[in-house]
Amino acid sequence: MHIELVKHPDVFLRLVSKKVSFPLDDKTERLIKWMYKAMYENLGIGLAAIQVGYQLRMFVMDCTRAQQTPEVFINPEIIEKSNETLCDVEGCLSAPGKREAVRRHLRIILKYQDKDGKEEKKTFYDLRARCVQHEMDHLDGKMCIDYEKGEYSRDKHKSQTMVESDFRVKHNT
Ligand SMILES: [Zn+2]
Repeated sequence: MHIELVKHPDVFLRLVSKKVSFPLDDKTERLIKWMYKAMYENLGIGLAAIQVGYQLRMFVMDCTRAQQTPEVFINPEIIEKSNETLCDVEGCLSAPGKREAVRRHLRIILKYQDKDGKEEKKTFYDLRARCVQHEMDHLDGKMCIDYEKGEYSRDKHKSQTMVESDFRVKHNT
């Protein structure tokens, strides 16, 4: 069965996600497995809960070629960023066909909880660091298509959200 993702310009993607509480209930445990499946099925390397319709602060990731070692990051927070940045083109499973140049930190340290609620800290480099920053944006309702010449643009975000509202109105009529 194909898993349908929430896609731009749906305004749901613009919501700020909420903290996950522990211990995880069965529904959330199932959701994590569902997210792994959705990520692999759509050939993605990362996926946030909001992209499958849940307003929760968690994302899954697997940047390996084999795609057999999925990880989940719950209530994540970037606690350190390198000064070095790199601008590169990004795409998003929720914005098919669109690509935007985004400047990201080359190295970040992420604090998060695993599915047992245990607090962890991990350093990410390069592609994995980029992927984490992309997913962290989703948790706050931001998308890579909001960036302009590498930098996050509040105006572009706003103008796209206006387009989204129009879309919703049309959708409902
Ligand atoms: Zn994305």
